[in-house]
Amino acid sequence: MPKAEVGSTKYLANKMKAKGLQRLRWYCQTCEKQCRDENGFKQHTMSEGHVRAMLLVGEDPRKAINEYSNQFKRDFLRLLKTSHGEKKVSLNGFYQEYIRDKEHVHMNSTKWPSLTEFAKYMGREGICRVEEGDRGLEVQWVDDSAEAIQRREDIKKKERLAKGDESMESRLLEQQIRKAREAAEKPGKVELPLPSQAPEVAKAEPVK
Ligand SMILES: [Zn+2]
Repeated sequence: MPKAEVGSTKYLANKMKAKGLQRLRWYCQTCEKQCRDENGFKQHTMSEGHVRAMLLVGEDPRKAINEYSNQFKRDFLRLLKTSHGEKKVSLNGFYQEYIRDKEHVHMNSTKWPSLTEFAKYMGREGICRVEEGDRGLEVQWVDDSAEAIQRREDIKKKERLAKGDESMESRLLEQQIRKAREAAEKPGKVELPLPSQAPEVAKAEPVK
């Protein structure tokens, strides 16, 4: 995609989009609370209410993640269907529509590591049509009976359970649960996790 000229409407729109996405990071899904910035989020994670809520989630984190994932998928599909019918739309463009709802379930509370992974999953399962297009990935709602979807889901669920396939390491939610536990054990001593501290190991440039 060509870079938008500085100062142009497109440039400003891109900047605002980036800012909107940045804000999404400071959202606590468990408490459904949007914080203004990193500091606000930090304050929030130290609050008694948050720690208590995270401990509760920590009793059964899989359940919470599955609930958020299902809800995310349901809302995503519902909006895709009602807004665009069977029209093919840009994945990123549509995601901007989805997140316009302040109460939306946030991507990083689901089991999918990224929007792309989520889209690939939907394509793989035949839940919607996903293709590489001129504007990157494109999604298209497929008119299919709810029964068929449910059936496919049940089969997948059984397979997943059989495999014990749960890879939630490195996920924000799990990190928060762990830290909340620590905070509950020794209050006042713990540095609380921030999304910016996602376990991406900074690597030095390889020597050539
Ligand atoms: Zn919270």
